[in-house]
Amino acid sequence: MDNRKTVLSAIQPTGDMHYGNYFGAVKNWVRLQDSYQCFYGVVDYHAMTMPFNPKTLRENTWELIFNLLATGIRPENLFIQSLVPEHAELCWVFNCFTSFGQLTRMTQFKDKSAQSGEDGFISAGILDYPVLQAADILIYRADYVPVGKDQEQHLELTRNIAERFNNQVGKEYFVLPETIYTEVPKVMSTADPSRKMSKSAGEKHYINVFADDNRIRKQVRSAVTDTGDTPEGAMSPGVANLFELLKAAEHTAVRESLLADYHSGQLKYVDLKDAVAEALIGISTEIRNRRADLNAHKKEVKDQIRQSTEQIRKRAQETIRDVKDLAGLMNVKF
Ligand code: AMP
Repeated sequence: MDNRKTVLSAIQPTGDMHYGNYFGAVKNWVRLQDSYQCFYGVVDYHAMTMPFNPKTLRENTWELIFNLLATGIRPENLFIQSLVPEHAELCWVFNCFTSFGQLTRMTQFKDKSAQSGEDGFISAGILDYPVLQAADILIYRADYVPVGKDQEQHLELTRNIAERFNNQVGKEYFVLPETIYTEVPKVMSTADPSRKMSKSAGEKHYINVFADDNRIRKQVRSAVTDTGDTPEGAMSPGVANLFELLKAAEHTAVRESLLADYHSGQLKYVDLKDAVAEALIGISTEIRNRRADLNAHKKEVKDQIRQSTEQIRKRAQETIRDVKDLAGLMNVKF
């Protein structure tokens, strides 16, 4: 019996892993493994909510698994969502405990539905995926959810669903999960520091953790610094974001010295950018090297993840059994 508190978090296999994902969430995931029982999912059902290619979805799922392992996530803590179909089952139950109006007010729904393709198609999945996310979290009865700040509203929804379920069945079954943020919970795009670093905004808006050194250097060098419209005395968002990246990379001494230059009016942006680029390249090099080692054992790694998913699934099955009992649904005997 494992008495440690439980942590759950997840990431979509929609292509590259960027420094928003890494500094906002994944870096914390690695650290938390020492103190908590951790479940980390590659959530492929979520990747279907935006236009996707069935041929590449599976490849992207494995790619992300290998990438996460390369950052230091342990295989026994990793699972693939579509191998745990109970997530989708709990999502249905939770749909019936979710306010339609609240879903339409989600910022990410508004953002993502605004990005619909030329045919104007917006899937019901885009509206409903926060409910699937609530199921992802609550199916493991997670105490803590380490995510970026962009997920705050979805976590609130998760707690609302848990409370509504508990009230209706007359039992405090689900604990209300809390978020854990990193020191830098919102990494901004270097190309446009008014928006968050994200894949969906396009290639120039994110720095891929697996990019080669030249690409990282080029992207950081072209970062927006001063746009001339920052109020007198305030640090411009682009410069602030570069300092945040240095903080996230834990290059403390360099950061302090550059900050002192900034305050005395001596800072050269090129020095700040070079420091950020070197910090990111250092992290990327380590992760890329570990990834190369894993590539040499592809089959073993995949088998290991299939096994860990089976193991993790047992906890999801327990929850579904309890939920069906509590909600008056039928249970087959496992
Ligand atoms: P996603 O790529 O949307 O599946 O997100 C995976 C994780 O990365 C989630 O915990 C997000 O909150 C986090 N994340 C994504 N983009 C950023 C960002 N720009 N800053 C901080 N965290 C982020």
